[in-house]
Amino acid sequence: MIEEENSQEEQFRDHITTVNQQGKRIWIFPKKPQGKWYNRRKIVSYFLLVFLFAAPHIKIGGEQLLLFNIIERKFTIFGGVFWPQDMFLFALTMIVGVIFVIFFTIIYGRLFCGWVCPQTIFMEMLFRRIEYLIDGDWTHQKRLASSPWTKEKIIKRISKHAVFWVISFLIANTFLAYIIGSDQLWKIQTDPLGKHLGGLIAILVFTTIFYLVFSRLREQVCTTICPYGRLQGVLLDANSMVVGYDKTRGENRAKLKKDEDRQTAGKGDCIDCLQCVHVCPTGIDIRNGTQLECTNCTACIDACDHMMESVGMEKGLIRFVSENSIKNRTPFQWTKRVISYSFLLVAMVIILVTLLVTRNDFETYIMRQRGTTYKMTDHGQVSNIFEINLLNKTKTDYIVELELEGTTGKITTVVKELKLKKEAQLKERFIVELPYSSIENGKKILYIRVLGNGKAIERVKTKFIGPSL
Ligand code: SF4
Ligand code: SF4
Repeated sequence: MIEEENSQEEQFRDHITTVNQQGKRIWIFPKKPQGKWYNRRKIVSYFLLVFLFAAPHIKIGGEQLLLFNIIERKFTIFGGVFWPQDMFLFALTMIVGVIFVIFFTIIYGRLFCGWVCPQTIFMEMLFRRIEYLIDGDWTHQKRLASSPWTKEKIIKRISKHAVFWVISFLIANTFLAYIIGSDQLWKIQTDPLGKHLGGLIAILVFTTIFYLVFSRLREQVCTTICPYGRLQGVLLDANSMVVGYDKTRGENRAKLKKDEDRQTAGKGDCIDCLQCVHVCPTGIDIRNGTQLECTNCTACIDACDHMMESVGMEKGLIRFVSENSIKNRTPFQWTKRVISYSFLLVAMVIILVTLLVTRNDFETYIMRQRGTTYKMTDHGQVSNIFEINLLNKTKTDYIVELELEGTTGKITTVVKELKLKKEAQLKERFIVELPYSSIENGKKILYIRVLGNGKAIERVKTKFIGPSL
């Protein structure tokens, strides 16, 4: 294995293709992709782009479709509000999400990166296409980059970066809408400038970050920064589906010669046209084998299929395939690892759905007020001061009443009426009086029924204390 790693063939793994010997960045000018897979990706990206930009502005029952308000600790997923008290559910949803991605990666490789990741969607389907539109295809872009600052170059550069800035501004606004909420964002956008200076600065900072990511960093995010990309080495195995080059069919690679019988000449199907390399947005040669830099964008499949078709050979020299399938010519295999991850995922989804469905609309805590003890009243009763902490996760206002269940006694609230506002918390004190005779060994377990607008909404167990004889 070590021997294999150090072999000549594996030397391409010792450096990244976007950095030269002197450690300087090699700028990638990928050729504009075309073909079946690219068209499919375009359709997927249109849906995702619409969703990404629209989601924070869609409301379900008055709540944002998706909100991740870290500042106010309010999170909504598909309109369902997650309060700090529901954090375990939110955390579980995130864990299930991560496990899903891991499981998906084990089977389908880095498909998420090439097809769903917002970085790729914005980069390849927005910024790159604008670049093709303004600067032209890769050869024009290369020429323009090395050309002197002519009038044409200045106009193209200014217009391209102006459009990049506007899109980055839109992305920054959308990003903030996910974090602070679209209503708050609207206030920042429409109120007088000085009123939300912090918000405006945040928009400008994020605009600059996104602009730099998509105009300068680009593929470096996927190849060197993204932790998910770095995880591929441990997630993928020889049975994972990846965009792969069929070495057994393609080698020995050689340029096409007119009227030559390649089989007799001992040549493989790869005509060494380098089209797969030219289209690659991360600048790699997929013929070297599965690499961390590959985002499974499928551009090389399209490029190779096009070449195979034009020289009259069978398509699929580069295709979605596992390393084992290439080696053994076998279809996809359900390995033990895949099966165990599937079970784990299904179990977690079932637990999550059960917890979500059975999630309470209210969260009630009733405890004796800290630092207080019992009191004997003039009429031979024992009293305790309690504190109720009631969280209302619904969108209804309630008038709350408290009742003792299964025992005689009296509840007196400190305020005249307990008002519980929608999506709010109520914290109040109340006094419970019980007959002296009902207390055994200095304590009594109490059940308190909580009524909201006349209907029972909660039943809480708590402890009452009294004199012990
Ligand atoms: S090797 Fe192919 S699939 Fe991988 S990033 Fe490059 S073009 Fe996309
Ligand atoms: S596009 Fe296909 S034929 Fe051309 S170099 Fe790549 S693998 Fe070989």
